[in-house]
Amino acid sequence: MANIAIDAIKEVTYDAIVIGSGISGGWAAKELTGKGLRTLVLERGRDVKHIVDYPTTVTNPWEFEHRGQLPLEIREQNPIVSKCYAFYEGTTHFFVKDAEHPYVQEKPFDWIRGYQVGGKSLLWARQTQRWSDFDFEGPARDGFAVDWPIRYADLAPWYSYVEKFAGISGNKDGLATLPDGEFLPPHEWNCVESYFQKQVAGHYKDRHVIMGRAAHITKPQPIHFQQGRAQCQHRTICERGCPYGGYFSSNASTIPWAAKTGKMTLRPNSVVHSIIYDEKKGKAVGVRVVDATTHKMMEFYARIIFVNAAALNTNLVLLNSTSSRFPNGLGNDSGVLGKYVAFHNYRARISGEYDGMLESTTDGRRPNSPYIPRFRNVYKQEMDFLRGYAAGFSAGRMSHTNQDGIGASLKANLVKPILDGWYVGSHMMGETIPKESNFVALDGNLKDPFGIPQLRISVGYDDNDDKMVKDYIEQMTEMFTIAGFKNIKATDSKQAAGLDIHEMGGVRMGKDPKTSILNKWNQIHACKNVFVTDGACMTSTSTQNPSLTYMAMTARAADYAVKEMKKGTI
Ligand SMILES: Cc1cc2nc3c(=O)[nH]c(=O)nc-3n(C[C@H](O)[C@H](O)[C@H](O)COP(=O)(O)OP(=O)(O)OC[C@H]3O[C@@H](n4cnc5c(N)ncnc54)[C@H](O)[C@@H]3O)c2cc1C
Ligand code: SF4
Repeated sequence: MANIAIDAIKEVTYDAIVIGSGISGGWAAKELTGKGLRTLVLERGRDVKHIVDYPTTVTNPWEFEHRGQLPLEIREQNPIVSKCYAFYEGTTHFFVKDAEHPYVQEKPFDWIRGYQVGGKSLLWARQTQRWSDFDFEGPARDGFAVDWPIRYADLAPWYSYVEKFAGISGNKDGLATLPDGEFLPPHEWNCVESYFQKQVAGHYKDRHVIMGRAAHITKPQPIHFQQGRAQCQHRTICERGCPYGGYFSSNASTIPWAAKTGKMTLRPNSVVHSIIYDEKKGKAVGVRVVDATTHKMMEFYARIIFVNAAALNTNLVLLNSTSSRFPNGLGNDSGVLGKYVAFHNYRARISGEYDGMLESTTDGRRPNSPYIPRFRNVYKQEMDFLRGYAAGFSAGRMSHTNQDGIGASLKANLVKPILDGWYVGSHMMGETIPKESNFVALDGNLKDPFGIPQLRISVGYDDNDDKMVKDYIEQMTEMFTIAGFKNIKATDSKQAAGLDIHEMGGVRMGKDPKTSILNKWNQIHACKNVFVTDGACMTSTSTQNPSLTYMAMTARAADYAVKEMKKGTI
């Protein structure tokens, strides 16, 4: 009998468990299996295999029943996710629907999620700007959060490591605020964008318009062919899944790479309930999982656990992992678990028109756009708000066709699109300040369909964000005016927090276990065999998009974890 029990336990025991198969979990899976660890990847959603599970990837606009639009019924049933620009008839299958996975909005918070193998890596806009020391040193300099336990130099080699594998396009711009990386050729500018770049460079020493760095293979390298990925074809329907693997997703890149090692067991439909802490051993020994199909609770065991469920779900899993040693959540000796959640401020937009260059137009499609790195409060605190904002920028011309006529005359009209003048537009990407009062917690009564407490989200904007919006509008209006753009219109959407889809924090890194949950290796201070490397670990939020940083941190932490395992310290 004893042998049967031991065999049964062996069957569910691995070297490592990874919770979540999205952008960061995919990297954990790749790194851990690559280093020889038998790794179980637990994913709450269904399996989505590269190419075969992209049902709309070659659907033409006219083939959609509603021509790509969302029927009113779906909008009404999904008031939250319908606000996301990427949620349309071609992508609904990759987004979480409002009713299926409820949560409590203590303050309005639009929580946008993708529960499937690949997570949100199928849906993202692929902007991959590195963070700089202005970001990692920021909290220590202006005191808005605890000091990061790492600096840019700790991450720089890991940025290079993940960039080369993922395939990042960009230009070496030599800017201190936005370190250069290992780039494939950048995307091209159009003439009005180049014109704006020159206007800004001519008027300001500290403001730059550059081509955004993006996770697109503009010139495949051998490592990309080895992954079975090919050059981006500029179809700009990436969020439906790219059959070429032209953009980086876990489905096209890290997960199949991990599978090829023969060391990965991927278990979709496995909702992690909590992490099991063994009081006698003084460490985590495994995880409890609710099978999404049978609703049966099961346990899996491993020596190390990587938590990559995406920021707020990682908070949820840790808060739900209680034991007599950790009655308030795993590793929560400090009481800060779930607190200091922050996000990005994407509220403001500006648009305008340009009268010139009517002899030129854009050529083809481009799945990326120019970017204006942060220029406020960089070298000194100069404004009445903390931190700063970056901005997206793009220019284009709309075309429409004259649909008058019949027969040959209609045909002649249709093949001659009429071009409007140039439009220009920009949106802000502001850093929000991590505050204790911005928190997530478990609801005491409400449960989700798997019997797990619902997440209560109490996260919102403050005065600092309002001042930043005002400054963005003033500064962009000035820059647009200098460039001679007309009909300038700025708006503050006042959208709820969350719609930026860059939620971070709650399980922050720090030097002091009294004020943080994770150390400089993303390891829980008080439970050394559990690592958190998704957005939950972020101490502050920078203005740059965060996912590249999650990838670099995951690769770095996995390298450390395996070395420590070999030394026998965890
Ligand atoms: C439309 C859109 C545009 C975006 N644009 C950008 C951009 O340009 N640049 C950028 O940097 N970021 C962008 N993002 C954000 C980016 O997608 C996320 O930052 C990134 O995916 C986070 O990686 P992750 O591994 O933490 O989470 P995810 O990629 O979301 O993966 C988390 C996985 O964990 C699973 N999971 C959750 N809970 C559990 C559980 N209890 N048990 C088991 N599994 C669980 C989920 O199902 C999911 O598969 C965008 C997102 C969207 C939706
Ligand atoms: S733009 Fe590139 S990455 Fe996006 S769908 Fe097209 S080929 Fe794929």
